[in-house]
Amino acid sequence: SVRWGLIGASTIAKQFMINAIRAQEGGEISAVMSSSPERAKAYAAENSIPLAVSTLDDLLGAGIDAVYISTTNELHLEQAQAAIKAGKHVLCEKPLALTSADARTMVAAAKAAGIVLGTNHHLRNAGAHRTMRDAISAGRIGKPIAARVFHSVYLPENLQGWRITKPEAGGGVVLDITVHDADTLRFVLGDDPIEISAFTQSAGMAGSGLEDGAMCIWRFKSGLIAQSHEGFTTKFADTGFEVHGSEGSLIGKNVMTQKPVGTVLLRTAKGEEELSFDHEDLYVRSLRQFHAAISGKGQPSATGEDGVWSLASAEAALQSEKSGKAVAIDPKL
Ligand code: NDP
Repeated sequence: SVRWGLIGASTIAKQFMINAIRAQEGGEISAVMSSSPERAKAYAAENSIPLAVSTLDDLLGAGIDAVYISTTNELHLEQAQAAIKAGKHVLCEKPLALTSADARTMVAAAKAAGIVLGTNHHLRNAGAHRTMRDAISAGRIGKPIAARVFHSVYLPENLQGWRITKPEAGGGVVLDITVHDADTLRFVLGDDPIEISAFTQSAGMAGSGLEDGAMCIWRFKSGLIAQSHEGFTTKFADTGFEVHGSEGSLIGKNVMTQKPVGTVLLRTAKGEEELSFDHEDLYVRSLRQFHAAISGKGQPSATGEDGVWSLASAEAALQSEKSGKAVAIDPKL
């Protein structure tokens, strides 16, 4: 069995990850840690978790094998390092840290300790994205030329907290959503970004100098260029992911989401075909790969290195907004 400790009494754990852990054979949640003892207790009771703690030492000492970190972003580094030091496998939320340098520190520590470190980039686990990746690598659109990512949503009221008020917690849409777009582009295209240019805005939701909208232009190693739109403030937009190649286009609709939904269309000279894909829960699939990695089989669906890449990309986007120039993306891995 794999006994998990939750670091952070978060919404994402409650909505998706507790279920994803319990869906695995031998997946158990032994304890939850919140900075507030009362919240820890209430969260544990609500989610049938046997132990509620309010310090990292108590959590790491609770006979667990792995931790899932879903606290606010400024806490990930210190908590991951403590867990790694205690020999626990770490599945950490994105962004891994506030800077790619800190994320590299985590990756190096995990490697030295021989533990598994994964980044919870869920979209790699979506059937829609895996189908697009397979179609591209099978040559079905010829040479990929351009990609477009539509990932501007409306941040639900219950989440209109630190993301839009706390720069020190790693708020802002770039660290929240652009990181996912970076990872999904890398995954679907099988290519790495080398340069980014970004405009960001505060369209009325985020305060404290934080951005709640971003448009980015990306250049990839192969020469492909991409555009992505991330936002918290668009109530009526669809999401989507498109890749256009020399011999065809892939058009994913409603695919930038936590749910296993959406459609993928392949359009070529032969006409249009809707590609079928599996509709397994993204997080359940992610956890299955993480458990396999713990038992020595393969890697987490998104590794620590993937988390460094996505954060280095987001960092470069923020630098580009500041400088008004295109910025090189270099994960220094
Ligand atoms: P939440 O705001 O729900 O939780 C973050 C922290 O805020 C918790 O650890 C908790 O602190 C505190 N908190 C939560 N609810 C309350 C409350 N009602 N009152 C007081 N404090 C509260 O954040 P999310 O779950 O949205 O995000 C957490 C992490 O997960 C982030 O790193 C985010 O980027 C990532 N994320 C990833 C997603 C993905 O699909 N990969 C999706 C959503 C988020 P404490 O633990 O100390 O009680």
